[in-house]
Amino acid sequence: MFLPTTRAELDHLGWKKPDIILITGDSYIDSPYIGVAIIGKVLIDAGYKVAIIAQPDYQSSEDITRLGEPALFWGVTAGSIDSMVANYTATGRPRRTDDYTPGGQNTKRPNRSTLVYANLIRRYFKNTVPIVLGGVEASLRRVAHYDFWSDKIRRSVLFDAKADYLLYGMAEGAILELAQTLTAGEDPTGIRGLCLIAREVPSGYLELPAYETVAEDNDAFIDMFHIFYKNNDPLSAKGLIQRHGDRYLVQNPPYLYPTQEALDAIYELDYERAQHPYYEEAGPVKALETIRFSIPTHRGCYGECNFCAIAVHEGRTIRWRSQKSILREAHEIARLPDFQGYIYDLSGPTANMYGFECPVKLSKGACMDKSCLYPEKCPTLPVDHSKQTELLKKIRQIKGVKKVFIGSGLRYDLLLSDENHGQEYLQALVKHHLSGQLKIAPEHTQPDVLRRMRKPNDQTLLKFKDHFEALSDEVRQKQFLTYYLIAAYPGCTLGDMEALKRFASHELGILPEQVQVFTPTPGTYASVMYHTEKDPFTGEKLFVEKNPAAKKRQKETITGRGKPPRKHRRR
Ligand code: SF4
Repeated sequence: MFLPTTRAELDHLGWKKPDIILITGDSYIDSPYIGVAIIGKVLIDAGYKVAIIAQPDYQSSEDITRLGEPALFWGVTAGSIDSMVANYTATGRPRRTDDYTPGGQNTKRPNRSTLVYANLIRRYFKNTVPIVLGGVEASLRRVAHYDFWSDKIRRSVLFDAKADYLLYGMAEGAILELAQTLTAGEDPTGIRGLCLIAREVPSGYLELPAYETVAEDNDAFIDMFHIFYKNNDPLSAKGLIQRHGDRYLVQNPPYLYPTQEALDAIYELDYERAQHPYYEEAGPVKALETIRFSIPTHRGCYGECNFCAIAVHEGRTIRWRSQKSILREAHEIARLPDFQGYIYDLSGPTANMYGFECPVKLSKGACMDKSCLYPEKCPTLPVDHSKQTELLKKIRQIKGVKKVFIGSGLRYDLLLSDENHGQEYLQALVKHHLSGQLKIAPEHTQPDVLRRMRKPNDQTLLKFKDHFEALSDEVRQKQFLTYYLIAAYPGCTLGDMEALKRFASHELGILPEQVQVFTPTPGTYASVMYHTEKDPFTGEKLFVEKNPAAKKRQKETITGRGKPPRKHRRR
């Protein structure tokens, strides 16, 4: 069942008034890959009447008022990605296309959608029920943060949006508890995973340097980020407070992770795997092409690449679905009338983190002072790819399934560290699960840049390449590796890019095409480096390329595109 989005649908369901109305910056795609769809389905499953308004016109009352006011609360999300990332390229140019908008034209998503939608509600519904922010944009902007697009430290989004609460991370549990608490007329302010604004601070919470301090003082901003980053594990994190003027942002400790049983139940709710017909009239959404026949297997990532915010949003502990649950979903997909036999992805944020986890992390929370994979794999992590190999085998045996692809990136250092089952897993990938190429993300090859990214070294990359090529030869398949690289990362010079180009051509034998200019997104150590021009772990001063044209030049050093220098141009 789709969540209703029109008055006629509410009437059809016999709902006079929804309990909760969700507002999103994406079109409404009912899929287990879309956070707002999961949230809606979890709440419906618990008995709440949930409606949704996708990509409302923010310049009129027409969309935002079409379902009236909810009985319990409004839920607001910018959508699957931060609206500024969705709307601008890394060099600041507007993006013309949007994979989550019907027809693909990027015309529906306002900048800073979270703020715009919350204010839109306030404009047309004075003294309304609570407005609750969620999703990636709100979650990663929950405390004072560096905003690349305005090049300044911004307040917590909760202060700017004039909303009541913010739920961070993967929020199914927290939003359900919020709904139950509000239904019972009780006070929700102690719910885990919730942020709010208060004048009084709860006891036992850690105080981050104030917004006004971090906005002026780079070292204080670095200190703030360390405390923020370390307090993200539900088993060990303390609540946080941060003064903004004469009030405080209060961040309760993270919500507890769902059990495997609960995770299975979340992914087995009745998703339509389609765009709601009301929005489909305006055209198809590109995002559906890949997610319609894909299966999420796990959440979280302990790779901790410094440019990635998954650790801060989803957490460093992997939660994975049971094999039975994934197989049930695969059978269901195989029965869909338009299924052509191809499952486009079967993975989580990092493909090969399925089915094993560190016992220390599971009992006490992720270590605050060391990393699971960097600089070497921690000996406590019991790496074992056998469960994933077995899962892939069972899925490719399902009637109607011709091929299962692995769409997400792979941590090759993790794979190489699995002496017992790594080879067997890679063999299975090479033989059955590639479409001629395997995507990997070394991101760079220069030691200093890699260190600041927290990425494995170039020798590990070459070792993996050798393994991959030997296995491809063994199965007589012409397959290649696609390398994802980053230009203009903090600390990366033009000279580093030239060295990367030489490495790519001499050692990898390629001219890389998948090179993107670095974007400093909120919630990452890399954005701290970009803003402060310092290595936050050593205090070392960093060269940071901030000139858009020079960033582009770094990229073009590798791709070879761009205009030739003036003297070589034809007249
Ligand atoms: S013991 Fe090792 S693998 Fe476990 S959480 Fe700590 S760093 Fe990660």
